[in-house]
Amino acid sequence: MTLDVLVLEGESEVGGKARTITRDGWMVEAGPSGFLGGRAELDTLITASQLGAAVIPANAAAKRRFVYRAGKLRELKPSPVGLAFSGILSPGGLLRLALEPFIARSESKKDESVWAFAERRFGSEAADRLMAPATLGVFAGDARKLSVGSGFPKFRELEREHGSLIRGIFARRGRGRAGGLTSFREGMQSLPRELSESGAFKVRCNALVRGIERTATGWTVAVDGDSAPINADAVIVATEPWAAAPLVQHLDAAAAAALKAIPCPHVTVVALGYDSSVRARIPDGFGVLISRGEGIRMLGNLWETSIYPGRGPSGGILVRALLGGAVDQEIGSLDDSEVLALAKTEIAKLYGLTAEPVFTEVIRIDGAIPQYEIGHARRVAAVEHAVDAIPGLGITGYGLRGVAFGDAAADGMHTGEKIGAWLAASAM
Ligand SMILES: Cc1cc2nc3c(=O)[nH]c(=O)nc-3n(C[C@H](O)[C@H](O)[C@H](O)COP(=O)(O)OP(=O)(O)OC[C@H]3O[C@@H](n4cnc5c(N)ncnc54)[C@H](O)[C@@H]3O)c2cc1C
Repeated sequence: MTLDVLVLEGESEVGGKARTITRDGWMVEAGPSGFLGGRAELDTLITASQLGAAVIPANAAAKRRFVYRAGKLRELKPSPVGLAFSGILSPGGLLRLALEPFIARSESKKDESVWAFAERRFGSEAADRLMAPATLGVFAGDARKLSVGSGFPKFRELEREHGSLIRGIFARRGRGRAGGLTSFREGMQSLPRELSESGAFKVRCNALVRGIERTATGWTVAVDGDSAPINADAVIVATEPWAAAPLVQHLDAAAAAALKAIPCPHVTVVALGYDSSVRARIPDGFGVLISRGEGIRMLGNLWETSIYPGRGPSGGILVRALLGGAVDQEIGSLDDSEVLALAKTEIAKLYGLTAEPVFTEVIRIDGAIPQYEIGHARRVAAVEHAVDAIPGLGITGYGLRGVAFGDAAADGMHTGEKIGAWLAASAM
């Protein structure tokens, strides 16, 4: 059975959060800068878009990750000795962390915050200085509010299976390793762009969906500015959760309330390009996460030209600063010049720079990153309940079952396959 698929995109171009800006010889990612390779669903999409030859692995140096604490950049070395000498934890904090294999597993089924989980297993210092910055890195989120089971399900799984994360990591070493950090030569937007041009389905941009309605035979979809709705046999809502809520309100109020309850704070990305004179000041590596309470508002920096060399003019150094998120929502109210000045000052302080950037770009993203707060699993269950009860409806996107690019892509494919199977069965 062949399906006639039409994608309706509200914006003027495809890609959603995956948007790549190229200007004056610099390449800046507005949203995701990479994904973990080796995932079957993404491989299928890469093959379908004929982008195999454009896949680029991150530079080996990108394995080096840093945390800013007590006024210094400190490398997070993945060994007990490396961690001990990093200065991130005090001797007492290190000792408490080393006791993790001896902490009994929790048998509680109750949802727990990321911070509470880390504190229980590793102690409060590690929760504050390691887990809270990691939560900023993935969700721009607040570790005390996010659910460990929904946001970091592997941690719960390791505890459940091995009784300890440290023991679990050792037991699983070498088994089914995740792929390395990966992107595309022309940036992350290449994948949606090439897919949309593959001919496998049609795409209409500037097509903001205002409403979806069930009819006796299927669905109608109303697009802003169109004189008549589009008829469809099935509909997949693949928007941010805040955009999905009003579309399903009249179909299932509980699902709409659940979608609305998933906060998506604003994130501002500031990209700063420097000439080669700053090379010695900015380490080779992936980037730095900044613990709260350090007197710096930025959540972290990504050292883009170190991760993917060639994303600036010869010798240029590109730093991407992330600001805002759940821990600093006021960032959204600063204007471009204020947020640019803030990022420039903080970057100068962080690396001891005196040079001015030669390139700047401010990207403001409202409703940027869904927060999987405590109770998220209940919200997802409410959405799944609606989908199960309403024939021909699918709901997907990074607001539900995984916030990363690869998770969103995989969830979209699984949702499409389910709807395809339902259509095939209904046609029989
Ligand atoms: C700053 C930032 C950095 C990130 N970094 C990383 C990273 O390094 N690695 C990683 O794995 N992930 C990262 N992510 C997450 C990643 O971007 C997402 O997982 C992924 O892009 C989500 O894809 P999606 O299709 O679910 O949603 P989106 O990309 O948000 O797409 C939803 C689309 O729906 C459209 N839409 C909304 N309402 C309507 C409507 N009514 N009608 C028509 N269209 C509509 C929107 O215009 C949008 O294009 C980052 C996200 C942000 C914001």
